[in-house]
Amino acid sequence: MWQLEITHSWVVTVLLNTLKTAGRQIGLSELYLKDEGVIPTGTFKARGAAVGVSRAAKELGIETFAMPTNGNAGAAWSIYGARAGIKSVIVMPIDAPEITRNECAISGADLYLVDGLISDAGKIVGKAVAKYGWFDVSTLKEPYRIEGKKTMGLEIAEQFNWEVPDVILYPTGGGVGIIGIYKALKELQEMGWIGEKMPRLVAVQSSGCAPIVKAWKEGKKESEYWTDAKTIAFGITVPKALGDYLVLEAIRATDGCAVAVSDDEILKAQKELAAHEGTFICPEGASLYAAARELREENWIKENEKVVLLNTGAGIKYPDTVNVKVPVLQPGDEL
Ligand SMILES: *Cc1c(COP(=O)(O)O)cnc(C)c1O
Repeated sequence: MWQLEITHSWVVTVLLNTLKTAGRQIGLSELYLKDEGVIPTGTFKARGAAVGVSRAAKELGIETFAMPTNGNAGAAWSIYGARAGIKSVIVMPIDAPEITRNECAISGADLYLVDGLISDAGKIVGKAVAKYGWFDVSTLKEPYRIEGKKTMGLEIAEQFNWEVPDVILYPTGGGVGIIGIYKALKELQEMGWIGEKMPRLVAVQSSGCAPIVKAWKEGKKESEYWTDAKTIAFGITVPKALGDYLVLEAIRATDGCAVAVSDDEILKAQKELAAHEGTFICPEGASLYAAARELREENWIKENEKVVLLNTGAGIKYPDTVNVKVPVLQPGDEL
């Protein structure tokens, strides 16, 4: 047995915000936002890092770990790793948000950019861990990252007073978050903390990279590699997730579904949420609002159902998604 010791402080609980205006706009009376943008490093990736890094440091005595990332996981693990005294080796696509590079660099990670996708980064890391004996903390390669992500599911159940909501939408890349939420809810059910009812889990992807949606529509158990993956929702640019079959299983078991929305819809949703609710969320999270609108139009979600959008990160990590032309005044000018 070992004692779980969190090596980095973080805001353990992220409260739910109600989206009254945004909900009304799309015909939903109880729409909620769980905004993970407020936790350290600005994304939910810190949850996996808090538990995974603690285990690597305290139980295993790891000196160096390595991971491929679309940016945010690398940032969280580098920063938490620095606190724990572990060296991190991070490989991310050259197109990953620049801020995530800086987060890795400032915390002393060995950072590499690959002129390709996260799957290419994964191959490079795979070879390197075999060669150097580093600890591989890629998505679903070590078990504690998902234990950290599970806390999102635990919090949702607790915040709804153990009467789970009807639908949870999640922006799905590697799928760790949705798999973690499902695992949390199943365990709560086994322990008798929640009843028979499960929320319908919805995996949302961008139509620029939607392998899980495609597999879902075709009734397949696994996805196929998505060629030419490209979306502004960079965190969900995962052409083939290792745990795709687990995501598909979670959706199927909860009577959920998988939905793809376009980048234009994502940007529109991001703007609407900022303007109507005063919340600037990441494009990955904004995809959920677009998907909820679509599912409401199809009556897949009913008007009075309780719906949670799980926003995975802060909009300020993606400054390039907003382009503005601002008038420049000279001192002494009047408005
Ligand atoms: C990593 C990431 C995702 C995708 O998360 P998974 O749990 O791997 O599917 C979504 N949004 C953001 C902002 C991310 O960083």
